[in-house]
Amino acid sequence: MSNTVTKPERSITSRTIFCDHCVAETSDKTPGNVSTINGIGRKFYGGAEPCPACTSVIRTLWWCFIEIPIVPLGSYRYKTSKEGVMRALYWSRKLPTRYWKQIWPTWLIGMLAALAIAIGFFFYEKYKRG
Ligand SMILES: [Zn+2]
Repeated sequence: MSNTVTKPERSITSRTIFCDHCVAETSDKTPGNVSTINGIGRKFYGGAEPCPACTSVIRTLWWCFIEIPIVPLGSYRYKTSKEGVMRALYWSRKLPTRYWKQIWPTWLIGMLAALAIAIGFFFYEKYKRG
């Protein structure tokens, strides 16, 4: 009962994964369980500014509807684990601000995709009616 050494496991793990520079520009906040059901839910998009030291990239977490990014929830330094082929293991650390340089083009592409689907649906409906 004399050992009072506490180990903040989570932060130590993510700190050894990322280099000092990436750790310094981010916080220990993790996005939690990121998943989509039928294309609806939270999903990472993008891959900007790869770090030469630890190979992490900046990705933005989006709330998605039918795979289309709708709301930018936050930007993260993101790194995939080497063994995580089947389970898609990754580490992420939250950036203090949203990475707008990545968000705008992602949003634009998402909106164009939504528009294309809407137009396609319109013509499909017209075609069905003859
Ligand atoms: Zn780094």
